[in-house]
Amino acid sequence: MDRRKFLLGSGAALIASSSLVSLSAFGCSTKKTEKSGHLVLRFKPYELKLKHAFNLAKSSRTTTPGVQVELEYDGIVGYGEASMPPYLGESVESVTTFLNSLDLAQFTDPFRMDEILSYVDSVAPNNRAAKASIDIALHDLLGKIMGQPWYKIWGLSLENIHPTSFTISNDTPEVVQQKIKESEAFKVLKVKMGVPGDKELIETIRKSTDRPLCVDANQGWDTKEEALEMCNWLADKNCLFVEQPLPKEMIDETAWLRERSPLPIFADEAFQRLPDVIKFKGVYDGINIKLMKSTGLHEAYKMAVLAKSLGMKVMLGCMTETSCAIAAAAQLSPMVDFTDLDGNVLIANDRFEGLSFIDGKVIPADKPGLGVSIIKGKE
Ligand code: MG
Repeated sequence: MDRRKFLLGSGAALIASSSLVSLSAFGCSTKKTEKSGHLVLRFKPYELKLKHAFNLAKSSRTTTPGVQVELEYDGIVGYGEASMPPYLGESVESVTTFLNSLDLAQFTDPFRMDEILSYVDSVAPNNRAAKASIDIALHDLLGKIMGQPWYKIWGLSLENIHPTSFTISNDTPEVVQQKIKESEAFKVLKVKMGVPGDKELIETIRKSTDRPLCVDANQGWDTKEEALEMCNWLADKNCLFVEQPLPKEMIDETAWLRERSPLPIFADEAFQRLPDVIKFKGVYDGINIKLMKSTGLHEAYKMAVLAKSLGMKVMLGCMTETSCAIAAAAQLSPMVDFTDLDGNVLIANDRFEGLSFIDGKVIPADKPGLGVSIIKGKE
């Protein structure tokens, strides 16, 4: 890979503003085999282009800002990324500012993952996608050094992976039918509700397919009574569960709904970091773990273990992401009850390859690290 091109692609302003990071990155940017003896970070913005407009309860968009990351140690490169849907509050500027503030060159042993990621987490609050990009790249790097994919390092079996859902957001009936056609290989559909006409959307989908549905209301229902009425209605429509039916602040109302709903209730927007698992025991039936919220795999693994030990269900979700971050999440997928890893198929400009889609399931490659490589010409 042409590293100079990777750096130049990040734009002159970005390079000019890079201090600690880019100085060390430039210093060993030409040889893969060079023994640097410390971690070297590189990154560049990469806008994700959506195949269809993404219409959510409170917004619509056709692109998602992203930042691609490389973490190198002794000539071995791990890949990571940050994806920043606007509602999460991060941006290319905030992520690059955060990454520029890191001094990863202080670490001479990449296996001190806990120490490295604790440092990254301590530099500034929030910045979860930025932190995830380092975590993902570090996992890729360490897996490559160890010569194994992470699902194997964690002792997980690919046979336990569930089919992933494919997201359909509200649109004209023609576009919805088109999306259903595109989703034929998927065994489960995820429907974005919480917008005017959402019952009609379900009716439109049910005209063409009886595949199971997962519903994501994206905080779009305003009262607990409205949410209960919708859950009761959806229970007759072969719906598996409802995600974030009410605004995230409505904790008591969600607990009320959970007691009465015939369908399991999952937390998404309400759920961010590890302590939230205990906070939401008894409020939600399950949690939606996304790497861009959890700050990456290191904490996501702990979340899944804790939630399962508390008898809660676990779902693994994603943002619009390239196959790099999807492959990272896929390493964990044998641990979870529901998988929603379609972020890479929703974009038109994926930068990575290596994932397989078999029988409706997203399967990581039996290759070291995340098992992905950059598509030729997308360096
Ligand atoms: Mg959601």
